[in-house]
Amino acid sequence: MSTIVRSEPNLIARGSGRAYGDSAINPSATVETRHLNRMIRFDPSSGQLVAEAGVQLGDIISAFLPHGWFPLVTPGTRFVSLGGAIAADVHGKNHHNDGSFRNCVDWIDLMRQDGTIKRCSLDEDAELFDYTLGGMGLTGVIVRAAIRLRPVETAWIRQTTISTDNLANCMQVIEGAQNATYSVAWIDCLGQAANLGRALVMLGEHAEVSDLPLDMKAAPLQIKPKKMRSVPVYLPALTLNRYSLSAFNSLYYWIGSRKRGDRIVDWKSYFYPLDSIAGWNKIYGRKGFVQFQCVLPLESSESGLTALLAEIASAGTGSFLSVLKRFGKQSGAFSFPMEGYTLALDFPVNAKVFALLDRLDRITIEHGGRFYLAKDSRMRSETLHASDERIGDFQTMRESREFTAHFRSAQSERLEL
Ligand SMILES: Cc1cc2nc3c(=O)[nH]c(=O)nc-3n(C[C@H](O)[C@H](O)[C@H](O)COP(=O)(O)OP(=O)(O)OC[C@H]3O[C@@H](n4cnc5c(N)ncnc54)[C@H](O)[C@@H]3O)c2cc1C
Repeated sequence: MSTIVRSEPNLIARGSGRAYGDSAINPSATVETRHLNRMIRFDPSSGQLVAEAGVQLGDIISAFLPHGWFPLVTPGTRFVSLGGAIAADVHGKNHHNDGSFRNCVDWIDLMRQDGTIKRCSLDEDAELFDYTLGGMGLTGVIVRAAIRLRPVETAWIRQTTISTDNLANCMQVIEGAQNATYSVAWIDCLGQAANLGRALVMLGEHAEVSDLPLDMKAAPLQIKPKKMRSVPVYLPALTLNRYSLSAFNSLYYWIGSRKRGDRIVDWKSYFYPLDSIAGWNKIYGRKGFVQFQCVLPLESSESGLTALLAEIASAGTGSFLSVLKRFGKQSGAFSFPMEGYTLALDFPVNAKVFALLDRLDRITIEHGGRFYLAKDSRMRSETLHASDERIGDFQTMRESREFTAHFRSAQSERLEL
């Protein structure tokens, strides 16, 4: 790998390819890291795991959950590599308490443009460490890392589902649940007028053995393997219209409301609902879909979310799953999260969607928000630069370390990073 990194004029690292756009593609050279798949060392006294960058979070869970360890922070799919999780500085449903992935990273080994490997941490080249976490591969190739896992007693989650009638009510519930370890809301993005922003809020806690029914207490760290469902063919574009999406959202809300209250659910169902449906992307048809994810500062979250949801509902082209999360304090030089609310949605690609997305970009900027690079595939450079005042410093750091010419992605070129 070092020969390739040294000799290619410019390149980008690729993990598991779970980012939604072109951040892990370089038209001239893309460095595959899936072969870096070894877990090297584990210290049970601190929970520190040293592993290569291509190891997926799902591999870590398979190896360590049976011994009572789980990732401190996880995104909504376990099929991401350690390198990809670090480069995007991913967030989970616990950002309000535990911050982003960086909070479990002790150090990284980074391959630089001359092919040498440098260890970075808060104590060793803190600037490079800081910018690599969230730097989308634009500071080098992460080859290995030391992360800390969290001890858990069981493989189960105590889930509390609360149905809320509108956005204000939903945000009130989330604000009142700041002590919950995990919180996330699924929003009916086509709800209008009195139903605008109605949602199911799902809180979660790692269950303790004493929370489990008797028959589950004997093997608390195991769940039965589940049958994988799959979407066998691409659905025709015709099935995706205002009426079918609205019907799906209403049905999902209604079924979810009937399940409100407390339940014990397994870790896969709570953290990774999409992972159990192979080829879920096919529901958007052959043209595929695009994601939109922004974060709005706390003070303008309610007005900004209201404007975004009203725009989406009136366009009538919504998402199967719109997800709202509360972020805690901002940390990191270039990481996405800031204190406030983040909204993530996907839209089937069709003629109207790109114009709608431009309107959503504008609303986000007007409310002081910014965008998640791991979900972007179509933003304009001016949009990104208008939304994030940290970009100048990121570019200066890249230039001063001579990264700009060497580590590039199709996304970094499109967005002039
Ligand atoms: C169903 C689904 C749910 C998701 N939910 C969430 C969520 O809840 N929260 C969240 O934060 N994200 C979420 N994501 C996005 C995902 O976590 C990120 O895109 C993550 O970066 C993907 O990791 P990857 O290994 O697939 O990386 P890739 O997609 O391969 O790459 C992503 C970025 O990381 C860089 N990179 C990858 N490996 C390395 C390396 N070894 N060294 C340097 N740079 C590297 C790439 O250059 C690229 O810029 C979700 C994605 C999906 C598909």
